[in-house]
Amino acid sequence: MAHLRLTGTATSQGVPVIGCHCAACSSTDPRDRRYRTSAVLYAGEARLAIDAGPDFRSQMLRAQVDRLDGILLTHEHNDHTAGIDDVRPYCFMQGVDMPVYCLPRVAGELRERFAYTFTNYPGVPRLDVRECTFGDRLDFAELDLELLRVDHGRLPILGFRVNDLAYLTDVKTLPEPTIASLQNLDTLVISSLNHYGTHSHLSVAETMNYVTLLQPRRTVLFHLSHRLGPHAEFQSTLPAGVYVGYDGMRLDL
Ligand SMILES: [Zn+2]
Ligand SMILES: [Zn+2]
Ligand SMILES: [Zn+2]
Repeated sequence: MAHLRLTGTATSQGVPVIGCHCAACSSTDPRDRRYRTSAVLYAGEARLAIDAGPDFRSQMLRAQVDRLDGILLTHEHNDHTAGIDDVRPYCFMQGVDMPVYCLPRVAGELRERFAYTFTNYPGVPRLDVRECTFGDRLDFAELDLELLRVDHGRLPILGFRVNDLAYLTDVKTLPEPTIASLQNLDTLVISSLNHYGTHSHLSVAETMNYVTLLQPRRTVLFHLSHRLGPHAEFQSTLPAGVYVGYDGMRLDL
């Protein structure tokens, strides 16, 4: 069955944070060990990674993703792209240039920051960058992804809807056309950084405003800071139908 697996649910520093001994960081609950936010979409034999952050290699090993058919990059920030070099085993094993779907701006960033991957130097990861934009449909195996605009502060980035599931990371605001595409959701996966929010990230209360507006059957929160506290404690503060995401969580489509 087609499904999405969350392979990372932390904000950019991960959980635990190096040197921190807060309740979340010292928790023994495995759900409090969070890699940086990312996911894998499974459709038949095909697998699409959503982002390739600094934990990409560990995430693919842990989830036993033995083949990969593409990567969708939501945006260029390091916690979503820094692991792209580790796509090499897939390129070598499968004999392919890895399709990377991203905004034109993100493609430009990749060509600068990972310039060596676009050379003929032996052994570099080979990326087949396919620029796309808001409103585009991305056909992936038997799935049809609708690419949506998310405003990450002043930075427009990619989210998507596939069937009745929406995946929206690094959200600060959702523009009107995106709201229109998010009606009648079964599952809303949405970022919720901490209790205060920032110029570019929703607080828990701000995320709940979107939950009230969109009325999905269930909501899964991710891209979480250790400051939200341990998983179980944070979960106990949330209304019915809203769940704290965790690494390895499977969401059927
Ligand atoms: Zn901590
Ligand atoms: Zn970001
Ligand atoms: Zn992020």
